[in-house]
Amino acid sequence: GADNHIDPTEVARDCLVLTHHQIEIAEISCEANLNSREKVHMSRTELQQVFVNLILNAVQAMPEGGDLRIESYDEAGEVVLNFEDTGTGIAPDILSRIFDPFFTTKQAQGTGLGLSISRQIVSRVGGQISATSTLGKGSSFHIRLPAVKKSE
Ligand code: ADP
Ligand code: MG
Repeated sequence: GADNHIDPTEVARDCLVLTHHQIEIAEISCEANLNSREKVHMSRTELQQVFVNLILNAVQAMPEGGDLRIESYDEAGEVVLNFEDTGTGIAPDILSRIFDPFFTTKQAQGTGLGLSISRQIVSRVGGQISATSTLGKGSSFHIRLPAVKKSE
């Protein structure tokens, strides 16, 4: 396919390689069930930016270790990706603000731009990103991207 017809499963694998060391030293066990096969029409670098931010957010939410689960699958013309962690979770009053530019709860290393930029990247290609969380239990981030049609 075209240069910008990319495979989200392949990009997710690349991102796990890039973040492997951080995952390892944080004593996080990572399970990937990457089963999507459809391609999406967007920049590989931008999708990497989205996935790396989600993985690093998850790592930072699990300072005492935990489980990270990443899955992808094809569903009704979309590629679906879920990033689930067993970290601190997000309080309900904060959950509605995490996609706002500059919103961060991190002392030093947080810019608060990761999720805001991620939402822009995903929205621009007609996709969606959302989060659900239970405080003290963990969070999951859910992405839907329109798949490239066979004729495109
Ligand atoms: P940053 O990582 O620079 O703080 P983000 O936009 O990536 O900015 O995230 C915004 C905020 O959302 C974080 O500061 C944190 O409070 C919350 N957050 C994001 N991902 C998670 C997660 N997996 N677990 C708990 N909180 C999270
Ligand atoms: Mg971040």
